[in-house]
Amino acid sequence: MNTNKFFKGFIWFTWFMSIFACTEPAKKQSDKSMENMQAYQQVSPAFNSDSAYNMVQRQVDFGPRICNSDAHTACGIYLAQEFKKLADEVIEQKGIVKNFDGKNLNIKNIIASFNPAASKRILICTHWDTRPYADQDANPANHNKPILAADDAASGVAVMLEIARLLKSVKVNIGVDLICFDAEDLGKSEHGGESYCLGSQYWSRNKHKPGYKAEYGILLDMVGAYNAHFIWEGYSVKYAEPVLRKVWDQAIQLGYSNYFYYLQGGAITDDHYYVNTLGGIPTIDIIHYSETSDTHFAPHWHTLNDNMSVIDRNTLKAVGQTLLEVIYKESGAAVQ
Ligand SMILES: [Zn+2]
Repeated sequence: MNTNKFFKGFIWFTWFMSIFACTEPAKKQSDKSMENMQAYQQVSPAFNSDSAYNMVQRQVDFGPRICNSDAHTACGIYLAQEFKKLADEVIEQKGIVKNFDGKNLNIKNIIASFNPAASKRILICTHWDTRPYADQDANPANHNKPILAADDAASGVAVMLEIARLLKSVKVNIGVDLICFDAEDLGKSEHGGESYCLGSQYWSRNKHKPGYKAEYGILLDMVGAYNAHFIWEGYSVKYAEPVLRKVWDQAIQLGYSNYFYYLQGGAITDDHYYVNTLGGIPTIDIIHYSETSDTHFAPHWHTLNDNMSVIDRNTLKAVGQTLLEVIYKESGAAVQ
């Protein structure tokens, strides 16, 4: 994603007062959440974090998944095969887009659908390509080396695969679309925000089905690392605040207040920006924010350290279980 916008927009923070008292510390938020959890009856099947962790590993084992590379092609085939085992319908949307350097990129968006005929639909999405250059690495000698991208964004794909596994075994009566966008992470800020998110721009202009609509969308980006914090990203607030509230409230009810904070951050040009502005679907971004790093992203972001060592099953579980609960509540279905 493009960080320029993020830095420009990241000029103030405020605690939202609607649920917790202003400046109420995180510990209190956690206590409140524990009370909620004790009284709360979960309706969704249990998210298996080992299964999700293994799916991160499987993607990392391909090496960097950079557009136009053999590893990218092989991983794309693998992911489509995995989703085909689970979903009612899988569409592999292939296209050619131009990189900022003028080169053509062969891209593939993978769309896995449950209940494709249902009119009420929810969209969950992430990107599956990986950044070709570790340009945030502390060592400048690594700036042109590709990253393994366990968190950014094999973690998002892994969470979606585990959701797909559960949706296959415990049915819902609404439509759910899981989209893996390609070519999110080749951009450079000096070439503008539109140099990022090429796959989601392509999909937003050319939906996999004419007239495709979802009630709302949820984007996952870096949802698998230790100490992940998720805050209210600026474009998510602008275009889909009720969805943010729904998802964060759900996370707190499940006891995940150590991950989900009612804290406003800056706007980030990520795939959800184009799904909102070009695709017309109100969509939020669940993205790892860090109070301590200079970039405001996780310390491993766009460095060679984005490998399996940063992946935490507990974070995958917090995000995955929250999404499952949102989906099963929308469906009105109980666990069978
Ligand atoms: Zn990235």
